[in-house]
Amino acid sequence: MDSERILTQLRVEGYALSPSYDDADVVVVNTCGFIDSAVAESLDAIGEAMAENGKVIVTGCLGKRADVIREAHPGVLSISGPQDYASVMDAVHAALPPRHDPFVDLMPAPRLSAEDYASGIKLTPKHYAYLKISEGCNHRCSFCIIPSMRGDLVSRPVDEVLREAERLVHGGVRELLVVSQDTSAYGVDLRYAERSWRGRQYATRMKALCEGLSELDAWVRLHYVYPYPHVDDIIELMVQRRADGQPRLLPYLDIPFQHASPRILKLMKRPGAVERTLERVQSWRAACPELTVRSTFIVGFPGETDAEFEALLDFLDEAQLDRVGAFAYSPVEGAAANALPDPVPEEVKEERLARFMERQAEISAQRLDAKIGSVQRCIVDTIDGELAIARSMADAPEIDGLVQVQDGREAGLVPGEFVDVRIMGSDEHDLYGEVEYNALQSGE
Ligand code: SF4
Repeated sequence: MDSERILTQLRVEGYALSPSYDDADVVVVNTCGFIDSAVAESLDAIGEAMAENGKVIVTGCLGKRADVIREAHPGVLSISGPQDYASVMDAVHAALPPRHDPFVDLMPAPRLSAEDYASGIKLTPKHYAYLKISEGCNHRCSFCIIPSMRGDLVSRPVDEVLREAERLVHGGVRELLVVSQDTSAYGVDLRYAERSWRGRQYATRMKALCEGLSELDAWVRLHYVYPYPHVDDIIELMVQRRADGQPRLLPYLDIPFQHASPRILKLMKRPGAVERTLERVQSWRAACPELTVRSTFIVGFPGETDAEFEALLDFLDEAQLDRVGAFAYSPVEGAAANALPDPVPEEVKEERLARFMERQAEISAQRLDAKIGSVQRCIVDTIDGELAIARSMADAPEIDGLVQVQDGREAGLVPGEFVDVRIMGSDEHDLYGEVEYNALQSGE
């Protein structure tokens, strides 16, 4: 998201983006510094940029450890920490003074073409956009150093977020991806301050934000939601319909559970009421049967016993989550969990990760298989040969599956378009289907 902001600002100021080091006047490297492997990767990326181009501006999490960067690469032009967009722009201005072009400056930010994507610049395609609602986090999970790097939760006032969302939708965005470290906690630091938008008062609070966003003509997808009681109110919005019959809020929740054993959750300093978690998922599904639940887990956390790992597999069987990502635990420099006893040997971690993924793959495959014969509202991402590559409401971009629409080109579909697709096949990740021309008659 930080890269997005920097790129947007560069484009707004009239800078062109280059897909190669050779053509670039200056290189901005956005780094990550959470885990040791990411530090090494970031330093490699800086080294590559220095060797290939020589004019390098470094920003992002690793920027907080300027000494490490300077030691490895003394020649970098500037180093700044996460979200310090102003320092990045100052460094760019110093290296490459902006061209004052009032015509360009007044134009909305141009977006990149398909060729730009193909040539390697990673930007969100223009029909979906990430909407960051806060920075930082009030939790203190023992494996995570985000709070120490980014501080406590700082929410953006609701009117500011809604205005940004409105601008994005007016600019052609059809899907908004709400992101933060903890979306459920949104506004707690501002004491849920009320703000005005479009002549109505909205609290700086998750539900009010979702109500406001649902007024816009776009899909709204929530990420990083914690299962607090007020999530029940959000489920209501997923059940309610807009005038066109579509849900006000996408029936999709991305909830990072991380584990299912109460003892491990306690060591992780996460909320540990696993029974209640299962009950909550079940009650949400009862209220909103089309709900997709996505989650992430860590296997091989220090002290995880065979029995606790088996309990995690049992949780998967019971919870029947739609989509799951998992990681083998990897120590993060500066994290409290590093001091925990009984680290799990690497080979055991890898073996558990493989078993975990295998178990979930079966569940995901069954849940996708159950969709065969249904009609799913999808959004088209790209056209590839004869196919349209789309996503259903159950699929967040980049992390979930795809819907391959076999007759997408013939049907004249274009990226960003909504289309109803009759599902004809599935595997453990993706769905396959054809354009459904009679969705209304079929009652979907
Ligand atoms: S894992 Fe997430 S919730 Fe926990 S401290 Fe880190 S950012 Fe906060």
